[in-house]
Parts: sequence; C-alpha cells; structure tokens
Amino acid sequence: MRTEFILEAITAVNDVILHSETELESLDREIGDGDHFINLKRGCTTLLAMRDELASLPPADVLQRIGMKLLSTIGGASGPLIATFFMIMAKVEKAGDISSLSEIAAAFNASVEGIKQRGKANAGEKTMLDTLIPVAETFNRLAAANATPLEIFNAIQQTAEQGMLSTRDMIATKGRAAFLGERAIGHIDPGARSSQIIIHTICELAK
Ligand code: ADP
Ligand code: MG
Ligand code: MG
Repeated sequence: MRTEFILEAITAVNDVILHSETELESLDREIGDGDHFINLKRGCTTLLAMRDELASLPPADVLQRIGMKLLSTIGGASGPLIATFFMIMAKVEKAGDISSLSEIAAAFNASVEGIKQRGKANAGEKTMLDTLIPVAETFNRLAAANATPLEIFNAIQQTAEQGMLSTRDMIATKGRAAFLGERAIGHIDPGARSSQIIIHTICELAK
C-alpha cells in the first residue's frame, strides 16, 4: 500500500460523497435518522484536513491515524465500524507490507471481519456488510485465481452493486432500521449504498 494512493483515495471519496448528498440523506431519512451523509461528510472533511500531516508517514501509520481520527469524528453507528476497518488495515500493513492484490484482498477480508465482530452483525441484516462481505469474497477468490487487476476491479464493482441492491428486500436486524420491521422492505440501506459508492470510486482510481 502506498501513502500517495491513500491520499488520492481520500480526495476522490470526499468528492463522490459530496455529490451523493441528496441520495444518502434521503436513504437514511427513510429507514434511519437522516444523518448518514452528515456523518460521512464530517469524516471526509477531517481526513482532508490531515493530508499534509499524513503525507510524510509510512502507510501503516497513515491508516492507524485515519482510524483513530474517524473514531472520534464520525459518530453514529457507522463511525466505530468504519474506524475499525482502518485500524485493522493498519495492523495488517504494520505486520508486513501489503502490496500484491492478494495481500490487499486478505487485508480487506480481515478488516471486514473486524466490522462484523465490532457490530455483532453478519450478511443478510441490511447493513453495510451486505456490500462488504460479498466484495471481500469476490476480491479474495479472483486474486487467488490470478485474475488481472482490471478483471478484479470490475468484478468487485459489480459485486458491490449487487450486494447494495440486495438490501432493498431485506428486513433489518441491526441498526436503527431494525425498529421498522417489515416497513424497511423496499428501501436500500444507506450504509450499504455509501460503502458501494466508496468501493466503486476506489476501484476506478486503482484501474
Ligand atoms: P446512525 O444509525 O447511528 O445514525 P449512520 O446513519 O451514520 O449512523 O449509519 C447507519 C448505517 O450503519 C446503516 O445504514 C448500516 O449500514 C450501518 N450499521 C448500523 N449498525 C450496524 C452493525 N451492527 N453492523 C454493521 N453495520 C451497521
Ligand atoms: Mg443515521
Ligand atoms: Mg445518527
């Protein structure tokens, strides 16, 4: 992993999140409390302001500082979960440079496992995990099969979209939407959508 790539990704993700304001806000208003966009925007703004300070650090430290900072800024249910993702990426990167696509896939998988544990949730509960778990699976499978980077990024983008869309027909059993029971059916989960948007953007950048 390269610090430069992480910084480029922060800028690109900030741009795409800002462009998704209306959609993310209305998704969370439908089955949550409407603040998902604001929470993500606060996280992005904070990371953008850290760019100069991060630029000279090795990637493991960059990921670690991002995780710690997000833990104290994003808030909501999603804050600690997104922070966990970065903390585990940092730990894996620290243990041995993550460079090949199969190493990145394994690190991504470990980070998604961390989110599952932290939020005591799994696939099928109408959360961000319905995007992240299938993406981790596709990423690992294709990297192990020696697919080309382009094939891998395309497949990840497709899997993320399918996972995000799959939340529409689910009842939520975690997060605020769980209070709605059957009334959550017909609505895409905001965290599943934001995760898919972010993954799509980072894949475009990596292509
Ligand atoms: P809050 O629900 O506290 O207002 P956000 O609106 O920022 O926080 O985030 C809501 C999103 O967090 C949901 O759409 C869902 O994807 C995700 N989420 C909530 N609880 C969990 C959990 N236990 N595991 C994984 N994701 C979760
Ligand atoms: Mg919310
Ligand atoms: Mg909230």
